[in-house]
Amino acid sequence: MAALSAARAGASVTLYEHNAAVGKKILASGNGRCNIINTTASADDYAGNDPHFVTYPLKQLSFGYFQTFCHSIGLVLDIKDDGRCYPLSNEAKSVLLALKSAVAEAGVSVLTDTEVTSVTKKDTHFIVETAQGTKRFDRVLIATGSEAAPQLGATGDGYRFAAAFGHEIVPTYPSLVQLHLHSKYHHKMAGVKTHAEISLIIDGKQREKVQGDILFAAYGISGLAILDISQKASHALLNHHKVAISINLLPRYERQELHNVLEKLFASVPRHSIETVLCGLLPAKTVTYLLDEAAILPSSPAADLSIKDLKKLVHLIQDWRFEVSDTHGFKHAEVSGGGVATTQVNNKTMESKLIQGLYFAGEVLDIVGKRGGYNFHFAWASGMIAGKEMAK
Ligand SMILES: Cc1cc2nc3c(=O)[nH]c(=O)nc-3n(C[C@H](O)[C@H](O)[C@H](O)COP(=O)(O)OP(=O)(O)OC[C@H]3O[C@@H](n4cnc5c(N)ncnc54)[C@H](O)[C@@H]3O)c2cc1C
Repeated sequence: MAALSAARAGASVTLYEHNAAVGKKILASGNGRCNIINTTASADDYAGNDPHFVTYPLKQLSFGYFQTFCHSIGLVLDIKDDGRCYPLSNEAKSVLLALKSAVAEAGVSVLTDTEVTSVTKKDTHFIVETAQGTKRFDRVLIATGSEAAPQLGATGDGYRFAAAFGHEIVPTYPSLVQLHLHSKYHHKMAGVKTHAEISLIIDGKQREKVQGDILFAAYGISGLAILDISQKASHALLNHHKVAISINLLPRYERQELHNVLEKLFASVPRHSIETVLCGLLPAKTVTYLLDEAAILPSSPAADLSIKDLKKLVHLIQDWRFEVSDTHGFKHAEVSGGGVATTQVNNKTMESKLIQGLYFAGEVLDIVGKRGGYNFHFAWASGMIAGKEMAK
């Protein structure tokens, strides 16, 4: 986006990519569909030391503007009710193809298999060093992304380049990532997928509540609901806070309602075992370990369940606590929080406030978005501004 914007504005542009091809993350995004933008994006959808840094760029790349831009590169969007947009083809490949063709048409020199090893400034010029040699430029944009998903080419090199120019790097952490749990049960429930409400608890206080799918795994837990709370969880872990999740396995009922439903159910089949009755409304493996945690004998007849144990069970079904010990790491994360401090970058131009002619865009900055097209949205917006400004 940055290369295209700069070239369309008349600049002579060289784009360096150390992978054999550009845009690997675009291809992998949105499960191969590329959730390209979100029509509702605002600062509330981002985290970082100053999430309001995104407000100006998002205003410049309004949805209408982006749609016109997409038409200009031959891409048609499919807009979903919740604001998420995908290419109408439903294939991430279309996004990359359209961008690559537009970049080629605009005359950008794309150097793949070319790793930038350092960026320095001498007088008014920048020197970009690669294994193939050095080249001088009037302006440089660092859009190297983050450390998330190194298997797709992420390096974190941009942080090193920025730090060498005196830029502050806000400590980075994986986001939109699975969580590791410390518990007696999660690995025994590996493979169980269910709909649940997840509350994130940091230092004993509830910080976020979301509903969605969860999937127990040998290492802990994944699923969309987990990805949605992972940014705050990961940031809290980075800062050594105590992190836990509370799982509500039956969020469709209020507490008293669930009590009544279970009471009626147990009364209607008094001779069935407690375990069998619960398997009528919960995944079997969760029932085994819920009963273990509640110290209730699974084979006891339903009629024998005391009111005290029923209350305990209801409580546990709706507030099953697990300690979060770690995230599943950068390798499995979609994005990364932290990065180049936004206080040292002008969000109207994306130029460094420390070094004239040096620019930043995208995930290398201390901005991280929610799931839903927000990360690309900021990357496109900041890239577009940087490209236009650099061409001036
Ligand atoms: C599996 C997955 C799915 C995702 N799905 C979505 C989604 O649906 N919607 C959404 O909004 N976001 C999604 N994201 C996040 C999104 O892909 C990123 O936020 C976005 O790509 C960031 O763009 P960027 O240009 O800043 O960095 P990148 O896209 O990471 O681009 C940086 C480029 O710089 C190259 N590079 C790095 N170091 C060097 C070096 N030293 N020399 C030369 N080249 C270098 C890298 O190889 C890379 O190609 C997803 C991410 C992943 C991993």
